[in-house]
Amino acid sequence: MYDLPDLDRFVEVRPGLYRCTIIWLVAAGIEVPVSTFLVKGDIPHDWVLIDSGAPMQVDTLLKAIDQVLTHEKDSIRYICITHAHIDHTGAASALLEKYPSSKVVIHEDEKPFICDGKSFRSITSDTWSFTLFKHFSHESNVKLPHDRTLTLRDGDKWEFEHVLRLVETQGHTPGSVSYLHIPSRSIMVGDAIMNIAAFPILSKIPCISGPMAMSTCHWGNAMKAIEKITTLKDDVDTVFPAHDYNPDGIHIQKVHEFHFPPSSL
Ligand SMILES: [Zn+2]
Repeated sequence: MYDLPDLDRFVEVRPGLYRCTIIWLVAAGIEVPVSTFLVKGDIPHDWVLIDSGAPMQVDTLLKAIDQVLTHEKDSIRYICITHAHIDHTGAASALLEKYPSSKVVIHEDEKPFICDGKSFRSITSDTWSFTLFKHFSHESNVKLPHDRTLTLRDGDKWEFEHVLRLVETQGHTPGSVSYLHIPSRSIMVGDAIMNIAAFPILSKIPCISGPMAMSTCHWGNAMKAIEKITTLKDDVDTVFPAHDYNPDGIHIQKVHEFHFPPSSL
């Protein structure tokens, strides 16, 4: 049904960058692909995971990780979270337990939602759709220990800075970020950009869009985030959304054409 080579397993989509996509049954008849990414560090046996799926995907994700990290010294050092929604934080607690020296990387404005139980429902939005639907939003239920998190902002130096760079792309949530895989010129954008079917019940044909409006805290900033991603074209070839029916991500030129359609110029 889904023609994705990385369904339930990690596939090397770029040198040193692996993607695994697991289907999330959001509601009856509504299935959404959720991708997580494994990144090889520049020190042997060091790995970084970007996002950690939905809670019901934990077992499948842990199994998929074990199929790549086969050496006894292989270890996940960091779990880089794009934002604190439930479909991106599912396995975070299990991974912190499995890899005792690992830490979660998150933007400092997102940390209260992942460590302190702050609710996205407390946010005042610039759109009626979020204001109306935020009470039904997919809140994360994790509460991670403060001492197992590392907060970063745009341009902050950290242990894996030669491989992964945090790029602030707030809007979908107050501290939503993207991670730029420097060696492969790929950027993992979480939900800042999506590439799933416009009508999931009727079709599986990928369609570039912004984030889902009803779960996006600030629409104006979310649009600025897409614009910021288009300005990275000197450093980026491929954009990998967390929700994507395309096995090979999106070329950045396509994102540019989506955000600046020729008719608007
Ligand atoms: Zn999502």
